[in-house]
Amino acid sequence: MDGTSHPATPPVLILLGPPGAGKGTQARMLEERFGYVQLSTGDLLRAAVAAGTDAGKAADAVMKAGGLVSDQIVIDILRDRIAEPDCAQGVILDGFPRTTVQAEALDTLLIESSQQIDAAISLEVDDAAMVTRIAGRYTCAGCGEGYHDSFKIPTRDGICDNCGGTEMKRRADDTVEAVGARLEAYHAQTAPLISYYDDKGVLQRIGAMGPIDEVATTLGRVVTAATTT
Ligand code: ADP
Ligand code: AMP
Repeated sequence: MDGTSHPATPPVLILLGPPGAGKGTQARMLEERFGYVQLSTGDLLRAAVAAGTDAGKAADAVMKAGGLVSDQIVIDILRDRIAEPDCAQGVILDGFPRTTVQAEALDTLLIESSQQIDAAISLEVDDAAMVTRIAGRYTCAGCGEGYHDSFKIPTRDGICDNCGGTEMKRRADDTVEAVGARLEAYHAQTAPLISYYDDKGVLQRIGAMGPIDEVATTLGRVVTAATTT
């Protein structure tokens, strides 16, 4: 402590983990509980594809094949989104950064806004279970709430618990072929970020093979500790 008081800056949390680890599911729960904003580069890219922007056109085929979209496109999209006023409540980064170049770009962005990473939380899972999680994933087209054929079923069949919507959709890249490519991309390019954040002293590892609520309880404790110390 240097004896001076520092103004609190909005929390920045990173969720790390392979596709299917539960980052999106847990980010939405944290958003609800703590009021932080979930920033999913996957969601932002899917919106760009749907809107037919230049970034979306460049990303579409790469995403369908399960590869990583170029760092420049993703960093530009993230930079624009994180500058929006709602992010002043704090953010949960879901699916970003995915490469060392992105992690370094995030460091620069945060220095520019006098912010810091409160925790980079690695959701630790077995690859073998991820194929089942991804193959059974679907979301509500209206509000984006995530479901699973076996692990998270709406209370009333076909009706979203969150908004009452009845249109559900599955992702174009949730295919067995693309899952293999995505897991490979994760191990080759994203897993090294675990040591990157360990070296910075902000890494937290949590077991994420248990049921959704159990993971949420552990994660909630980690987030509370990271944002109140
Ligand atoms: P990610 O964002 O990391 O790719 P998701 O949050 O979309 O992963 O989760 C993938 C699928 O697995 C979803 O259908 C979700 O409902 C389900 N799921 C998430 N966490 C768990 C868990 N702890 N146990 C079982 N299924 C889970
Ligand atoms: P997700 O919704 O996080 O599973 O991401 C879906 C797809 O979007 C990924 O397989 C990549 O093709 C792309 N994508 C999302 N985030 C990134 C990122 N940070 N860097 C590169 N590609 C990304």
